Amino acid sequence: MSTRAVHRYVGHTIRPAPDGGVTAEAHCMTHECGASSGPQGDPGDAQDWALRHTGLNPGHDLYRRVYTDHARVTRADQTPAR
Ligand SMILES: [Zn+2]
Repeated sequence: MSTRAVHRYVGHTIRPAPDGGVTAEAHCMTHECGASSGPQGDPGDAQDWALRHTGLNPGHDLYRRVYTDHARVTRADQTPAR
């Protein structure tokens, strides 16, 4: 069996894109609670939400935290856009 497909690869680079912003979100993992901070532009706000949530709901003390950022891919032979 031979493969005749020709693949041409172009080198790319991926870099953080801080201008896209970051989000942080905390999800309460206590059984069937389902509460979430929602995406927060400031990770400290998601943390504050979790502290308040536990304060209001004793025993809700485990959170899944999700962080997102942005990254930009550029061809290696191009100067990244600013
Ligand atoms: Zn909860």
